[in-house]
Amino acid sequence: MDPEKRVQQIAYILQKEGYALAFVEDHGRVYYSLFSKDSLDPSSSAIVQLLQGLFGQFVDNSFFILRRRLYTTEEISAKEEGMIRVVAKRARSKVKAVNHGLNLSDLEFIKIEFSRQQALAENHLGVFNLSLPENLRGLAFKTDQERWDFVTQLAELNPRGLILHDYDRPVAAALWNSRGELLSYGINSSSRNKTLHAEINLVQSFCAASGGPLPEGGTLFVTHKPCRMCAGMIYDCSANPFSMQIKYLIEEKGRLSRNTILDQKGLNYFCGVSNIDMAKKLLRNVDQLSDFTAATRQ
Ligand SMILES: [Zn+2]
Repeated sequence: MDPEKRVQQIAYILQKEGYALAFVEDHGRVYYSLFSKDSLDPSSSAIVQLLQGLFGQFVDNSFFILRRRLYTTEEISAKEEGMIRVVAKRARSKVKAVNHGLNLSDLEFIKIEFSRQQALAENHLGVFNLSLPENLRGLAFKTDQERWDFVTQLAELNPRGLILHDYDRPVAAALWNSRGELLSYGINSSSRNKTLHAEINLVQSFCAASGGPLPEGGTLFVTHKPCRMCAGMIYDCSANPFSMQIKYLIEEKGRLSRNTILDQKGLNYFCGVSNIDMAKKLLRNVDQLSDFTAATRQ
């Protein structure tokens, strides 16, 4: 069977009017997701939903499934390109849905959906990523030091647990608007779902709550340099990425953090501290943030 025709036939079987389609085939099973073209949420898509949902529904098989080529009927944006690089291998965009009359009745089709609520509920720190607590909403920060103190304390909420899936690297991110008011934060929770880096949690919870992109003129502080996936998500989900200030404390040298779209556009800044302990020594304590950290540890 001609492989191109086969892919087009699968797209034909699965396509739905008004929806973008993404799919991946492994061992006679086709995992697919449909994403409404009317969605106002810039932080998801057919590919993003497929990748995030595979970790949710098939975490034990995800490693093998994601070595296969992904297909989508759409173009591949920065956030998708980054997510594919970080958690999968390769993808093909703009697949056409064509009926070649091929018989694919031996394939099993499995619809993939993604619930952030569920994914975060399964993670030991997930609840802190679901929404900004009332007492922190709009909290005003005056200096960069206060902001660094806040994000480093958030990152410290990630202790090393007893089992593999309790361990998340201590990475956190927080977003302020142009008036210095806290809008959103995210803590890394990627041990089970490899897409849930701190910045992804921040952007997706903000977009879900506000129904729109990150606002113009925002300031984003991240403990570690955003990887390709997170950089793509921040870039694609900002109303105007060129109006954003994106600062990070700790350099990441790995291949997945090099030459990100934020690097290419000159939009993120290393703030010159070589490790988190050194950073903490430089920072002052802010009482209300210590209270928050203490409360969330109980
Ligand atoms: Zn990342």
